[in-house]
Amino acid sequence: MRYASVVLDIPTRQLDGAFCYAVPDELEGAAVTGATVLVTFSHRAAVGYVASTSPEPPAGLAPEKISSVEQVLAPSAFDDVASGVAAWIAREYACPLPDAVRPFLAPGQKVRVTRASQDDPWELVCERAGAVDARWASLTPAANDFSPARTASRQRAVIDALRAGPQRVSELSATIPGASSAVAALERRGVVSVEARRVLRGSEATTLSSAAAPRPDRLTAGQQAALAAIDEARRAGRGDVVLVDGVTGSGKTEVYLAAIERSLAEGRGALVLVPEISLTAQTVGRFRSRFGDDVAVLHSRLSDGERFDQWDLVRSGRARVVVGARSALFAPLRDPGLIIIDEEHEGSYKQDKSPRYHAREVAAELARARGAALVLGSATPSLESLQRCRDGAWRGARWTRVEMPERPGDSVLPRVRVVDMAEQFRGGGRSIFSAPLVDALRGVAERREKAVLMLNRRGFANFLMCRECGCVPECPHCSTALTYHERGHMLACHSCGRSWPVRAYPDPSTACPNCGSRYLAAFGVGTQRVEDELAMLLPGDVEVIRMDADTTRAKGSHQRLLERFDAAECAVLVGTQMIAKGLDFPEVTLVGVVNADTMLKLPDFRSAERTYDLLEQVAGRAGRGERPGEVIVQTYWATHPAMRAVSAHDRSAFLDAELAERAEAGYPPFSRLANVVAWGRAEKDVRSVTDGLARAVRERVGDAPGWEVLGPADCVKARVKDQVRRHVMVKAPVDADLGALLGACVGSLGRLRGINIAVDIDAYDMM
Ligand code: ADP
Ligand code: ZN
Ligand code: ZN
Repeated sequence: MRYASVVLDIPTRQLDGAFCYAVPDELEGAAVTGATVLVTFSHRAAVGYVASTSPEPPAGLAPEKISSVEQVLAPSAFDDVASGVAAWIAREYACPLPDAVRPFLAPGQKVRVTRASQDDPWELVCERAGAVDARWASLTPAANDFSPARTASRQRAVIDALRAGPQRVSELSATIPGASSAVAALERRGVVSVEARRVLRGSEATTLSSAAAPRPDRLTAGQQAALAAIDEARRAGRGDVVLVDGVTGSGKTEVYLAAIERSLAEGRGALVLVPEISLTAQTVGRFRSRFGDDVAVLHSRLSDGERFDQWDLVRSGRARVVVGARSALFAPLRDPGLIIIDEEHEGSYKQDKSPRYHAREVAAELARARGAALVLGSATPSLESLQRCRDGAWRGARWTRVEMPERPGDSVLPRVRVVDMAEQFRGGGRSIFSAPLVDALRGVAERREKAVLMLNRRGFANFLMCRECGCVPECPHCSTALTYHERGHMLACHSCGRSWPVRAYPDPSTACPNCGSRYLAAFGVGTQRVEDELAMLLPGDVEVIRMDADTTRAKGSHQRLLERFDAAECAVLVGTQMIAKGLDFPEVTLVGVVNADTMLKLPDFRSAERTYDLLEQVAGRAGRGERPGEVIVQTYWATHPAMRAVSAHDRSAFLDAELAERAEAGYPPFSRLANVVAWGRAEKDVRSVTDGLARAVRERVGDAPGWEVLGPADCVKARVKDQVRRHVMVKAPVDADLGALLGACVGSLGRLRGINIAVDIDAYDMM
């Protein structure tokens, strides 16, 4: 008899943990780690996932008291190592165990028990994506001696079509009406044979011109150094990390490709994570052209069926290279020698719903558990990763940084020009384009080149700014930018909760607190308006392509817009930050940033870092080909260290100032920061939950050094869909077990009626 430790998929914190069930002999081969099973839990049917099995029941549990696994509902989706990583996620991020296990399941699997009402019996609902077969028809040798009846024109058409080779019956039907019954008739006569062949959804090719990845003749010195470090980390086999810190266009992708080749040569695979929005056919094409059918692709824009097929390619061992978004980490790749995270600084690697994990941290744990190397690549590494490399180690693994400061060949970094928009305004400029940007755009049109214009939409219009000096009103008590709330025309501080009517700050006038100007206004422009103004500014034969949330909603539209830009002779691509990443179009000679600083003043300690990252990334889109590139950044804050660093291509100008500020305020990377948000309709209940939570945390923490509890306070988004939102923030030392502590505090609150609570460890979104 074996025993299975089963994680029940019942969504309540009260039932968190794994429970022991006996495995009947007839299920022994099937109820293994990773399997989905049906069990009974306190008189109800429940779905669960086998986390581990053992020949002995847990100590202290009498075997006859243990109930049995009743049925196996889905085959194993993960192994023991993955199961261990799931348990780690649950603890580290203070999330319920089933939330941590679910990402490892087969895509499209929705197996659960439900009942219509309290009095109805439980019902099992199984929705699973599965393999799909297509029916292929081909001619048999008997076809040579066969001639169809004169009236059977369809049979003749089918035979003619099949002379060119086997075809899918569905394709025959598309061109020959009634083909399917003709095929059936021919099959009966032994002239045609029909066989089922597995369809692989989600493996389409790409048409983008630069998708192919020709192998360069020789690697740069930086690339060789990076590869050597990765080899060493892979051989160490204990989750060592190599940070490839390379300027945009320095050939990081080429390093990944070469490192994967070496991993494959050793018989091991590779997991490659790319931010969702840069997971374009262009990126995928580079991997496919090098590794062909060894590549599986996983991201959220695929259908369930497509994702299942790609996932199953990995599980079956046929694909050993997985390229995907954040969730590809959970793909059932048995033996990855390498885990690669491209653009590791990207905020989208943090998941914003439970489990609220950061892909970098899970990857580090996974690499350790699988004995793989972790490669992080970026032109603007996160301060967290830089700090760990400075320390040389983190949680028992070595962290090494390799710099790649140059682009291969003659390609040089573009010239960056920062334009002070306040100065433009004082000089009479009222347009959203500064004079230098207008000149540069006209130049692109004359020379028949291409330009990219980026509009920063994050933090859109939610603060007031002086058009003359760029000043943004701050809280006198917290030195945090005040956010502007249109309703009531109020300015609010999210740190301390104080607020003012706009007119009462800082004195009874609407003047700028810095220069006294009356041009204090909510700030922001949309992509649509930029598109319109461009159309007026440029000759009609310059194609203007807009890429934002509106124009990329439909499946494949992102791709089509890029293909249009690729195919155009002379064009401007206008878009939100989604265009900043990964695009590699050699004909782009101008990059313009319309509003560089809308993010700088967000009430978020990472706002300067994000602004810097975004500017550096978008600047890297220019001058990737033979012609030199130019970058124009429009800002109201030309003296900010982020602007100065971008224009001088000198990251230390930014890093030194930023690190000093973080150290002084005790923010990451010098601490860990968690944000616990509670929301619900009844403000009174939300308040009592956050008050209780803050009290519980303060009690546990006492006055231990490095710990600090902030709040409770209203969230910046204090009300969403009529629900009141309040939060408590907790700062802790870098080596603190923050998840375990907060998990216990939340658990101690008991049942929360009508209140939702989200524990966000190492939070990125504090709003
Ligand atoms: P990154 O990922 O750092 O932005 P890429 O890997 O996309 O850089 O490389 C930028 C360009 O340089 C690509 O067109 C790539 O084919 C080319 N490239 C990369 N490595 C080399 C090399 N060693 N020699 C010549 N060209 C290279
Ligand atoms: Zn304040
Ligand atoms: Zn001013």
